[in-house]
Amino acid sequence: MNNFFSKKIILVILLLLAIGIGSFIFFTLRVHDAPDLSVDLVEQKVFETKHEVIGSSVEGRNIDAYTYGNGETHIAFVGGIHGGYEWNSVLLAYKFMDYLDDNPDVLPKNITVTVIPSANPDGVYKVVGKEGRFTFADVPDDGLASAGRFNANDVDLNRNFDCKWKPESTWKGNIVSAGSTAFSEPEAKALQGFVSKNKPKAVIFWHSQSNAVYASECEKGILPETIDIMNTYSFASGYQPVKSFDAYEITGDAEGWLASINIPAITVELKTHEDIEWSKNLAGIKALFEYYKNAK
Ligand SMILES: [Zn+2]
Repeated sequence: MNNFFSKKIILVILLLLAIGIGSFIFFTLRVHDAPDLSVDLVEQKVFETKHEVIGSSVEGRNIDAYTYGNGETHIAFVGGIHGGYEWNSVLLAYKFMDYLDDNPDVLPKNITVTVIPSANPDGVYKVVGKEGRFTFADVPDDGLASAGRFNANDVDLNRNFDCKWKPESTWKGNIVSAGSTAFSEPEAKALQGFVSKNKPKAVIFWHSQSNAVYASECEKGILPETIDIMNTYSFASGYQPVKSFDAYEITGDAEGWLASINIPAITVELKTHEDIEWSKNLAGIKALFEYYKNAK
């Protein structure tokens, strides 16, 4: 009888041991799996925003660049080359940066985006009167002062690049200074340095307010890919595509200079001077991401 019970006890102990060992193995494996999952999640979180100062203005204000992602296809977005006269293009760029911070997975793995939100910070300061990042609330009611279009040397920066450069150029009916040579202005030099270092696949400039997407060209004409991205952004955003700007002669524009060195560039002109027209531009940006998703 004792023998029978002790056998039973041994069996129960063995059974408990088996359950114990089984559970141990089961949970250990699960625990072992767990870190792998979290590593995947960390990898999907994708990137840290990289901030760089790529130059400084005539009055010594930083020209900042913010880079998102690690893909080999690098696309740059530039706001505010016409400073405070087009302050809404700077606010659009800030909004895009916030959007990328909040929605990192919108960026395809192969794409790196750099945003240079304020390419003419002295011109912004002239109108907005604020250093660094600003909001709608900082812009005065009469915030359309055309003087804010130029840098602190009164140069129209989008006439200071090396494409058909002349010392004087035009803006609407006006003669504007284009600097003493191509790239005489530190703001233009900052963009030049960024481009030669990073060799972006395409550059998008935000301006206001002609309500259109323009292609770009210099002596060699329009690059085929420029036509593609103009149409892509235009179709998604609703801004009308315009191949050649012919309202008046423009020399020394940044987009033309990029065309001359075989980098597709488009100019997106918002419809107004006061609104960032976010949903239209987000649609344009997403369409470009889709376009470049499989690009090498
Ligand atoms: Zn402009």
